[in-house]
Amino acid sequence: MSLVNFNKMLARARRENYAVGAFNVYHLQDITTVLAAAEAVRSPVILATTRDAFAHSTMEDLVAVIKRRARATEIPVCLHLDHARDFDTIIRAIFAGYTSVMFDGSSLPLAENIHKTREIVKVAEPLNVSVEAEIGRVGRVQTQYSEEKTDDGAVFSDPGEVKKFVEETGIDACAIAIGSLHGMQKQEASLNLNLLEEIRKRVEIPLVLHGSSGVKETELKEIGARGIQKVNIGTRLQRVFTDEMRRILAENKNLHDSVKVLESARKALKKEVIHKIEILGSSNKVRN
Ligand SMILES: [Zn+2]
Repeated sequence: MSLVNFNKMLARARRENYAVGAFNVYHLQDITTVLAAAEAVRSPVILATTRDAFAHSTMEDLVAVIKRRARATEIPVCLHLDHARDFDTIIRAIFAGYTSVMFDGSSLPLAENIHKTREIVKVAEPLNVSVEAEIGRVGRVQTQYSEEKTDDGAVFSDPGEVKKFVEETGIDACAIAIGSLHGMQKQEASLNLNLLEEIRKRVEIPLVLHGSSGVKETELKEIGARGIQKVNIGTRLQRVFTDEMRRILAENKNLHDSVKVLESARKALKKEVIHKIEILGSSNKVRN
């Protein structure tokens, strides 16, 4: 089928208390693997790309591949632009064929974040493109290889501000900061579930969790019922993929066939994506 925006997917997830995974993809290997995993367990899926992905594969190439793959499958696939901070990138993505965009104005003062997000909604809505925006700030763990070494300042979302933000912008989904951080390698973050409940009481639209690689799976299992309907997963997938490449190369010193190395990494990645889908509860939500 054609690419879809996330509105119907997340509305159903909200009614039925589960979350849909938004998996960060960067190249053909992870695109095909995430789709194969979602197909295997009949789950709707969101493929998310960041500017890091565009540095490797261009935006237009990614869209071409993902559109073609989505047409060949029966499961609903949403192509989402993750963490765009400027109007130009968002417009370019919408024209390239993205069905969903995130404007990240979380580092801006509230009034400016509202104003800029509203401008994006005005353009996206008539084109049937869903819009996510962020209020509060999900920070980033500083690592040697992180692109944003200085960006580790997290600010919890304020429930009153979330309400104002949602009402004044007209967004379709809201990313909130409740204790997770981008780039965590270990599952050591603890979510502030009381804060989530306070936010949930004030807004109706689906909420989004970023930085879920560092969140315990016991908590991930619960959050669909608590109002988080979209869960972004990136770091964990990168870790599984590269760990498997390291393993197979270390164990087979004479292996020089890149296809075999990638095949092995894809197999490990597929297993992990299926596992995450099952944790989030979105498997078997697409009819056979
Ligand atoms: Zn994020």
